[in-house]
Amino acid sequence: MSKRDYYEVLGVGRGASESDIKRAYRRLAVQYHPDKNPDDREAEEKFKEAAEAYSVLSDSQKRARYDRFGHAGMGGSAGGGFDPGFTNIEDIFDLFGFGDMFGGGGRRTTVQRGADLRYDYQITLEEAAEGKDAKIEIPRLETCESCSGKGTAEGTDPETCITCSGSGQTRYQQGFFSVMRTCPNCSGKGQIIKDPCTECRGQGRVEKKKTLELKIPAGVDSGSRLRVGGEGESGVNGGPNGDLYVFISVKAHETFERQGSNLYTSAPISFAQAALGAEIEVKTLDGEETLKIPAGTQTGTVFRIKGEGMPALGGRGKGDLFVAVTLVTPKSLTKEQRKLLEKLAEVEDTDFEDEGFMDKVRNIFS
Ligand SMILES: [Zn+2]
Ligand SMILES: [Zn+2]
Repeated sequence: MSKRDYYEVLGVGRGASESDIKRAYRRLAVQYHPDKNPDDREAEEKFKEAAEAYSVLSDSQKRARYDRFGHAGMGGSAGGGFDPGFTNIEDIFDLFGFGDMFGGGGRRTTVQRGADLRYDYQITLEEAAEGKDAKIEIPRLETCESCSGKGTAEGTDPETCITCSGSGQTRYQQGFFSVMRTCPNCSGKGQIIKDPCTECRGQGRVEKKKTLELKIPAGVDSGSRLRVGGEGESGVNGGPNGDLYVFISVKAHETFERQGSNLYTSAPISFAQAALGAEIEVKTLDGEETLKIPAGTQTGTVFRIKGEGMPALGGRGKGDLFVAVTLVTPKSLTKEQRKLLEKLAEVEDTDFEDEGFMDKVRNIFS
């Protein structure tokens, strides 16, 4: 991969002054700053590229060497490649003192947002239709009350780390660069706890069960996700709490199948009901509805009962209930039924001309 010219990267001319270079780099650093472009690989690459260009062009010696030899003059190794040894974006920040430009106040290494939590919650279809006030118990890390999150035993305070003088970072030389790394002695906290709190063993947080009241809105479906702001794990050193995400799943129902806001079910009818027409009672989610079956109804015909489906989530209106009727042939007959059916058999027309019907038969046997 051929490297871009450093002047080109910063968008300045070969004769650019020190302050031109600095201004150009600041502009790019702000534009491609990882805090402003989370999870954007391209922006991160651009940011690194600009930082690398700036690190060379802002140093008069390196710049002179680059002007004479180009990229080949920058590498220490035989291949002439440039490896600034950046391990992560934090290094670049600290190298150029950009940390303060964005966060403002507080050491970035120590203040941490608490983790988001996931909680799976299963409800019935009826509960999904009505909505539910649920009480859930979630285990999570909370600020330790005994030490107020400091992590130290009562009456003691954390001590400033000697290795990094409390900055949480140590500087070391790598190639041309002086690179900042997380302090190995205090793991970036800047402080050492000599006498840890017994309750949290110095962590500042303890695992607790918290009961939360949750309003599950009507119309939720499997895969619905409720966000409860600030109910995740506690932040570290005054950082904000994470969020709690409740993932809903709806149990399969023995009578109804759901698709979006519509419900599907089936209802058995007899031959006589199908032939003569009838009014049947159909189970709905919250009771029964009368369904009119017209004379001559075929098995598998689907009827729609308006407004007996699921409520729309967060909106108005309800879906519909679709009822597929199935013709049930009796397995045993009383004497009287048999007599009547035999009579019917004598007079009924078995010369089925319905093409649709023959197609079905063909489909079955083909
Ligand atoms: Zn340290
Ligand atoms: Zn504690």
